[in-house]
Amino acid sequence: MKACDEVKGAVRIYPLPHMPVVKDLVPDLSRFYAQHRFIEPWLKTTTAEPVKEWKQSHSDRALLDGLYECILCACCSTSCPSYWWNGDRYLGPAALLQAYRWLIDSRDEAKKHRLDNLEDPFKLYRCHTIMNCAKACPKGLNPAKAIAEIKKLMVERQA
Ligand code: SF4
Ligand code: SF4
Repeated sequence: MKACDEVKGAVRIYPLPHMPVVKDLVPDLSRFYAQHRFIEPWLKTTTAEPVKEWKQSHSDRALLDGLYECILCACCSTSCPSYWWNGDRYLGPAALLQAYRWLIDSRDEAKKHRLDNLEDPFKLYRCHTIMNCAKACPKGLNPAKAIAEIKKLMVERQA
C-alpha cells in the first residue's frame, strides 16, 4: 500500500483484477459476495438465547483481532493466483478469513457444521501460501494465516 504522492510518475488506476467489469472501475462482485454468504458470517447457536446478550471474555474477544477488521474490499481474493484460476470453486482468502473469524468465535456453536462445509478439495485447499493476499490487504490482515489455521482445525478434528 502506498499513498499517491509516494508514486513517481503517472498513477494508473485499474478495476480489481480478474473480475468481470460492469463499467469503468466497477467490478461485478456477485460471486465474491455469494462466497461470503456461503461461509454463513453470523453467530450460529443452538442453546437458548440469553436474556441480554451472548457474553465473551476479553481473551476470547482478543482472538478475533486481525480478523474482524476485514472491510470486504476483495483486494486479497483478486490478488490471489489460486482464486484467478479456480475462483468458481476456491472460496478465496476473503471468505476464508471470515470463515475462520466465525470458527474461533467463543460464542458460536456451529464449529462442526462450519468445518464440514469447508471440507472440500477446492473450497479450502487451493491455497498454496503464495501470500499475495497478505501483501494486498489495505488493513494489514493475513488471510493466508487464517487459512492455515482452518487447515489445522481440520487436522485436529481427525485426531
Ligand atoms: S496465501 Fe493462499 S489465499 Fe493468499 S494469495 Fe496465496 S494462495 Fe491465495
Ligand atoms: S484485502 Fe483485507 S480487508 Fe480486503 S477483503 Fe481481504 S482481508 Fe478483507
